[in-house]
Amino acid sequence: MQIKPKYDYLIVGAGPYGATFAHEISKGGKRVLLIEKRNHIAGNIYTNKQKGINIHVYGAHIFHTSNEKVWNYVNQFVKFNNFINSPIANYNGEIYNLPFNMNTFNKLWGVIKPQDAFKIIKEQADREKIIEPKNLEEAALSMVGRDIYEKLIKGYTEKQWEKPCTELPASIIRRLPVRFTYDNNYFNDRFQGIPINGYTELVEKMLEGIEVKLGVDYFQNRSYFDSLAEKVLFTGAIDEFFDYQFGVLEYRSLRFENEIHEGLENYQGNAVVNFTSKREPYTRIIEHKHFEFSKAPDTIITKEYSINWKKGDERYYPVNNSINNALYEKYKEHALSFKKFIFGGRLAEYKYYDTHITIEKALELVQKELGQSS
Ligand code: UDP
Repeated sequence: MQIKPKYDYLIVGAGPYGATFAHEISKGGKRVLLIEKRNHIAGNIYTNKQKGINIHVYGAHIFHTSNEKVWNYVNQFVKFNNFINSPIANYNGEIYNLPFNMNTFNKLWGVIKPQDAFKIIKEQADREKIIEPKNLEEAALSMVGRDIYEKLIKGYTEKQWEKPCTELPASIIRRLPVRFTYDNNYFNDRFQGIPINGYTELVEKMLEGIEVKLGVDYFQNRSYFDSLAEKVLFTGAIDEFFDYQFGVLEYRSLRFENEIHEGLENYQGNAVVNFTSKREPYTRIIEHKHFEFSKAPDTIITKEYSINWKKGDERYYPVNNSINNALYEKYKEHALSFKKFIFGGRLAEYKYYDTHITIEKALELVQKELGQSS
């Protein structure tokens, strides 16, 4: 006779996907064990406190969503502040507002009226004679014209992806809004903010009452871990799960250089400054205290470098070109025959998910697993 495993679900990974799933599925009466390779929870939204400031250890995360259900969901655990992301761009010492809006156009061309900005952009875009954009460069030129492309897009994007814009998919740039209003809010979403005590507390609250084991690497003893539960939710990289048998999925990684400036209250006057030329080797500088309007006497900044990912490095951005996407599809197809296993989240689905989407997807999965329809 086969002995029933102790848990209904083993969850591998304590990021927002795993934590949301763990919380909801255990509320649905299921027995859950969550294991996490790192020695902390919260995945890449992990924050920790230094000098009284919450540091976004794996890169800045600004929570934004138009999905009221997701917004209410996260707000039941922690309170959010009213931070609005308004990054600025530094192009060889010239400062511009982002996303591209009337403030940017005014600084670039001195225009005051939207119709004058629109005229300039249209003239510049028409000059390029692009009918159907085939890559990021063409998409950007036809969207905002050459001036903005050269000063605010090309350098940043090529540092970020280490490829010429002509070899990148247009979809990357379509994330950015273009507005003919004086509105520096980077996102179009209805809700936005950052948990008042940092993201780690959010995930901590989600995981209250859940059995969590930190510093445990699933791959060290997978057959043992698999035997503990009826089903396994794996939120790590899908290619690694299958021993890279079809090939390695490509990622971009990040390198962070932190600087503590003691006795300096304000380093750059904004949470996020993008460096959009190649003069600086980093893509952006984050000044963490501005995410939470902190009055701390010191400040901590992080210079963010985009680097090529290799096995063993942290995965950040999937490189969703056609080759990698086709490879992912192969893994996905293959995974279907492993009924015990569920693959979900940014790494397992090889998608550039923002945090709110990750939570939305995890909630959908719970519904499916509990056999409810939304
Ligand atoms: N981007 C740019 N200039 C900027 C900021 C972004 O050209 O100052 C482009 C770049 O190609 C980048 C993409 O827009 O990869 C998406 O940027 P986003 O800020 O959404 O990226 P994230 O914050 O997720 O890294």
